[in-house]
Amino acid sequence: MQTRVESFLRGAWEGKTFSGQWASPKGGTRPVIEPATGERLGEIGVASIDDLDAAVKSAARAQPAWAAAPADERRKVLLKVARLLEEHHKEIAGWIVREGGSIPGKADTEIHFTLGEVLEAAALPTQANGIVYPSTGPHRSMAERVPLGVVGVITPWNFPLILAMRAVAPAIALGNAVVLKPDLQTSVSGGAVLARLFEEAGLPEGVLQVMPGGPEAGESLVKHPRVAMISFTGSTAVGRRVGELAGGMLKRVSLELGGNNAFIVLDDADLDAASSNGAWGSYLHQGQICMAAGRHLVHASIAEAYVARLVERAERLPVGDPHRAEVALGPLISQKQVDRVARIVGDTVKAGAKVRAGASHEGLFYKPTVLTHVRPGMPAFDEEIFGPVAPVTTFESDEEAIELANASAYGLSAAVQSRSIERGLHVARRLKSGMVHVNDQTVNVDAIAPFGGMGCSGNGARYGRTATLDEFTQWQWITVKDKAHEYPF
Ligand code: NAP
Repeated sequence: MQTRVESFLRGAWEGKTFSGQWASPKGGTRPVIEPATGERLGEIGVASIDDLDAAVKSAARAQPAWAAAPADERRKVLLKVARLLEEHHKEIAGWIVREGGSIPGKADTEIHFTLGEVLEAAALPTQANGIVYPSTGPHRSMAERVPLGVVGVITPWNFPLILAMRAVAPAIALGNAVVLKPDLQTSVSGGAVLARLFEEAGLPEGVLQVMPGGPEAGESLVKHPRVAMISFTGSTAVGRRVGELAGGMLKRVSLELGGNNAFIVLDDADLDAASSNGAWGSYLHQGQICMAAGRHLVHASIAEAYVARLVERAERLPVGDPHRAEVALGPLISQKQVDRVARIVGDTVKAGAKVRAGASHEGLFYKPTVLTHVRPGMPAFDEEIFGPVAPVTTFESDEEAIELANASAYGLSAAVQSRSIERGLHVARRLKSGMVHVNDQTVNVDAIAPFGGMGCSGNGARYGRTATLDEFTQWQWITVKDKAHEYPF
């Protein structure tokens, strides 16, 4: 059954990559598969290393003119992208659902927050971009933010549209050209959609290149001498490799990586709200979110009451094909992910944890799972699961909760549940986490706030309004003398 509406995407991307024009790449094609059914939705063009090289060179040729374009011209393109995104919301959401296994609510939310990223990016070109310094010599002295040149953007499959757009839109708005390498599994919603939006919005040819490809394509983008910066979102293991390669070439690199996020429930929490927040944080998009609640740390005195509520929620969440049925959880993206989740759950149970819900799957459909008696040293505590699993670990004091939360190499997001705002805030401020939410769950994003992690969750890079200004520009100090004078030499 092929139910695609081609009005906006028009099938333009079928078998193609985007370099300002849609063209057949040397790397051939690869089927776009709907994970819920295994159905083939189309064929995406795959970039070879030669295609990537040509794309980077074409982006480098287009970038200076784009950087020199009037600020309002750059803003106009971004505003048009925002309008097109709203106009074609339904069609784009359809792709996020079918290609990525998202429920429609997640797809709508992803588009909503992507729109926020584009609108924030649209405000960047017209911001004052310099500083005039007081004179300390016979010259005028100023500093200007200038673009980096060609930015390589590498993205994963779980929130393909927003994770690509949050880098592509500000980088382009600030006068850079971009070569985007989306994950092959979601190259339509994370690649072709962006190409079509910017194409239709009138972005000059060459400024955005969309080159779906595998790890070799990613590495060749990182290693390309004409790429000034890499913006990478993905796993910590691959991020480390990307960081090594980019560091070796003295290239700027922004790494947004994995998480194993603590969801802390203090003994004075509202348990109905806490269990609802905990279920949302662990099960939204089947737990395949970098900010997912990966460890439920619960005060021992209320642990059983909390777990009973969490289990009840887990058991009533329907799992199935999100395109054809009303479900709360869709499929995991691939068999590889199912195997990973099953391995972590199995080994954790072998190590002494108890299954209170789920821990089973049919095909790619993994049931919402609750594990109790989870302790540090067990895989479900130590590793990022990236599946619909809520591992529960108990503590006896706020101090112990903080210690357990910080007993992870990751530090992306965290949450604290407490009826006392003061106590919640006190705990929050002691967590080694780039983002902390009191009386909310761990999955939060806002285009105006700094998004990013500590420790193994990143290298200090941040997205969001002012942060992106720092990420995608560099300073140039300029002095001007009325006339040159002679030095002693
Ligand atoms: P991944 O395996 O690291 O892949 C991410 C991207 O890197 C894909 O486009 C992938 O291409 C590419 N890639 C793979 N090997 C590469 C290499 N050697 N050089 C350059 N690029 C390479 O990540 P994933 O498993 O798809 O995504 C899930 C991970 O992303 C989780 O750990 C999650 O926490 C993290 N994530 C972090 C954030 C954040 O903002 N902090 C947001 C979302 C997800 P191929 O897929 O084609 O191999």
